[in-house]
Amino acid sequence: MSATDKSKFPLVVIVGGGFGGLEVARRLADKPVEILMLDKHNYHTFQPLLYQVALGSLESESIAFSLRKNFSNQSNFRFRIAEVKQIHSEKNTIDTSIGEIAYDFLVIATGSTTNFFGNKDIEHYAMPMKSIPEALNLRYLIFQNLEEAVLKKVKEEREPYLTFVLVGAGPTGVELAGAIAEFRNYVMEKDYPELKKDHVNIYLADFQPRVLGTMSEQASKAAEDYLEKLGVELLLNAKVESYDGTAIKFEGGKTIKTKSVIWSAGVMGAIPDGVDKDKIERGNRIRTDNLCRMVGSENIFAIGDVAAMITPETPKGHPGVAQVAIQMGDNVGKNILHIIKGEETKPFKYNDKGSLATIGRNKAVADLGKIKFQGFFAWLVWIFVHLFSLLGTRNKFIVFLNWMGNYFSYNGGSRLIIRRFVLGDVKNNAEEVTKANA
Ligand SMILES: Cc1cc2nc3c(=O)[nH]c(=O)nc-3n(C[C@H](O)[C@H](O)[C@H](O)COP(=O)(O)OP(=O)(O)OC[C@H]3O[C@@H](n4cnc5c(N)ncnc54)[C@H](O)[C@@H]3O)c2cc1C
Repeated sequence: MSATDKSKFPLVVIVGGGFGGLEVARRLADKPVEILMLDKHNYHTFQPLLYQVALGSLESESIAFSLRKNFSNQSNFRFRIAEVKQIHSEKNTIDTSIGEIAYDFLVIATGSTTNFFGNKDIEHYAMPMKSIPEALNLRYLIFQNLEEAVLKKVKEEREPYLTFVLVGAGPTGVELAGAIAEFRNYVMEKDYPELKKDHVNIYLADFQPRVLGTMSEQASKAAEDYLEKLGVELLLNAKVESYDGTAIKFEGGKTIKTKSVIWSAGVMGAIPDGVDKDKIERGNRIRTDNLCRMVGSENIFAIGDVAAMITPETPKGHPGVAQVAIQMGDNVGKNILHIIKGEETKPFKYNDKGSLATIGRNKAVADLGKIKFQGFFAWLVWIFVHLFSLLGTRNKFIVFLNWMGNYFSYNGGSRLIIRRFVLGDVKNNAEEVTKANA
């Protein structure tokens, strides 16, 4: 199948409508190419706000945007819902859930999936949060557990339902721990008068010695202070050994009884089949040259979380953040046009604009190059950056109104359980419960 049938222009197939894929398509607007974007979902997900969907303070639609709608004014753009299964680089085709598709240029922008490091039990019982279905699963689990806790009269029986263990103290773990703590501190007793704040335990665990290990020590220190003030117990230098749905065990013997383990301890590239093993780097990422081209290929590009551009300056590749994906997408879009026109291509150079993480209301940490600051101003910057980056005016408006509502009422969001979530029952839950890429 060819998306545009007998077009005189080269066909650029973009797999993935995430931050990177979107940027490639934007760069190629009104240019002499045909674009076919494929994604398993018909929407773009703004992952940085997934944790607010999980806590029920934002509805999922407000952090997602229709891919068709986003490009409805771009005449060289086509979209199909399809999962890409296999790449056949020797014949320039891909196998997808809607059939075989031929390409002139292929951009792999499939992002990453949760890495459970081969531990099947953890994969079965712990909650990942990389997509909207997974964030909703987590929301249902959290609120179902609170409902269960209300029914338990004996402390020992109630406690596991009210104990939340977050594994992985990167931005996702830190932001989610802060949000759960704020829910417990300000909201829970209004919705659940039977439960008391001090019934709820929130642990944030990491095998590293500090939270936000990729940010400055100053940011880590401030984040740790904020979390401790919110009542989150930090378990640092703590390596998880097992979780069986009832108790999580750490190396050294510490065991916590819990019905909710949230896993944000690692990611791995979501690569379709067909990429030679010698082109796959640490973290299951596709090794590229400095034009984001898969090594050994002239017309296959990999960008964002799924790519590893190994150079002397970036021996481990680039960090898995939205800015890397966006800037790679921009570079690839422009270089495809240079290649078509026979012009010189430009190597990718990452412009690191810095990192931000928020830990509850009024508190955030910011490392913007040499400028590092924490507290209220960092929180305002976080709000501005996230609102600005969200796709769609309606979404920006709704999220802003929600945030204002939450800020003044301390009780925003709907926290609805729309369908029942059963821990570990992959078949009967929404897709991607445990493994997007198994
Ligand atoms: C909870 C969370 C919070 C985050 N917070 C931040 C933050 O605050 N700041 C920041 O910079 N970064 C943050 N990140 C990281 C950031 O979201 C990623 O680095 C970024 O999304 C990577 O962009 P991408 O285009 O490579 O992939 P993605 O945005 O993940 O997009 C990949 C797309 O590919 C599709 N896809 C995957 N496999 C297939 C397939 N086989 N066939 C068809 N379609 C497929 C997916 O459906 C998805 O739409 C966060 C990530 C998470 C999970």
